[in-house]
Amino acid sequence: MTIAAAVDQNPLDPYLRVDRMPHIWCAGCGVGPAVGCFVRAIDRAGLDADKVALISGIGCAGRAAGYVRLDSFHTTHGRALPFATGLKLGNPELNVVVFSGDGDLAAIGGNHLIHSARRNMDLTVICVNNFNYGMTGGQLGPTTPLEARSSTSPYGNFDPPFNIPHLVAACGATYVARWSVMHLRQLERAIAEALVKPGFSFIEVLAPCPTVYGRMNKLGQGVDELHTYLERCVVRHGADTADADIGLNGPIIVGKFVDTERPTFWDYYARVFAKAQKKP
Ligand code: SF4
Repeated sequence: MTIAAAVDQNPLDPYLRVDRMPHIWCAGCGVGPAVGCFVRAIDRAGLDADKVALISGIGCAGRAAGYVRLDSFHTTHGRALPFATGLKLGNPELNVVVFSGDGDLAAIGGNHLIHSARRNMDLTVICVNNFNYGMTGGQLGPTTPLEARSSTSPYGNFDPPFNIPHLVAACGATYVARWSVMHLRQLERAIAEALVKPGFSFIEVLAPCPTVYGRMNKLGQGVDELHTYLERCVVRHGADTADADIGLNGPIIVGKFVDTERPTFWDYYARVFAKAQKKP
């Protein structure tokens, strides 16, 4: 079978812009497997792809918007969430997904992240965490572990990182989970759950960046980083997100942390709108 024929038979073809391959991600990068889980999750959730939109910001993960055969928008740095919010409010029937990196979502777009969770905006956020700004040369990011090396912390980071699941849970997200790209089945299932969950759903995806973060911290090839995840990750569903900090070494708690209900932005809006219409 030729490669072209094999590609033609790939069941993910309907969801991908195969004509744009090869993609830009480095060998061993974790962004590609995360995209694979996302498109399989659309299938698993039984969604109509014409009603799914993917919004991304800037960075390696943000380039996903160019490779999915969905309505997709590659927005400016940190602004994926406000763009997604506007899209959802303009067309509530759409299933709006934000797919971006930890730097884009938790640093440059950090303010949008906390307010989207607070409002319980009906969005699914997939945050690929590679612990640095990979695309621009490996600078220190909001999730870089203490003592980890980056191009702007060559002697080790002394800037305490965000525990993003804890942050969004504290702000009111109704679904919060963390998996690595070594947990493909669990990640696919989590994204499928999040896609049909009303309110603000957030999934952190730990992903290797062998070209920059892995090289600077002597983690080996991408596959070596994957093995590290297997060794370090401990599955604890329902764990207190306060315990989910990630250090340079030691265990990493993964699993589904939060799965709860509370009124969404639309629910509150509908109540006030109905009340206002009754006024003489
Ligand atoms: Fe992936 Fe890192 Fe390469 Fe970016 S720089 S594509 S995150 S391996």
